[in-house]
Amino acid sequence: MIIHNRYIPAKKFYAINLFGVIFVRHGVHLNAKEINHERIHTAQMREMLFVFFYLWYVAEWLVLLVKYKNSFLAYKNIRFEKEAYRHGDELRYLKHRKHYAWLRE
Ligand SMILES: [Zn+2]
Repeated sequence: MIIHNRYIPAKKFYAINLFGVIFVRHGVHLNAKEINHERIHTAQMREMLFVFFYLWYVAEWLVLLVKYKNSFLAYKNIRFEKEAYRHGDELRYLKHRKHYAWLRE
């Protein structure tokens, strides 16, 4: 489900996936690749029972922030993001994706 709105996420971001619901800033149009990216996150969340996805996401980001000393590089190297960016343009990826594929990133 995609909800366009004026408040979520914060201005410098275009979309955020909260528990499988994709919030997109008013006036932003997600292309097929971006929607696929967010749907890959939804698949990851389901296999992590949502809560553990966010805990892992933040914990890995913090570890990578210490490693790279750069918040954007840390974000791009989170396993969940690596899988979602690597396969975002494969629009049929979710049809054949293996569970916990992000663990092999
Ligand atoms: Zn992402």
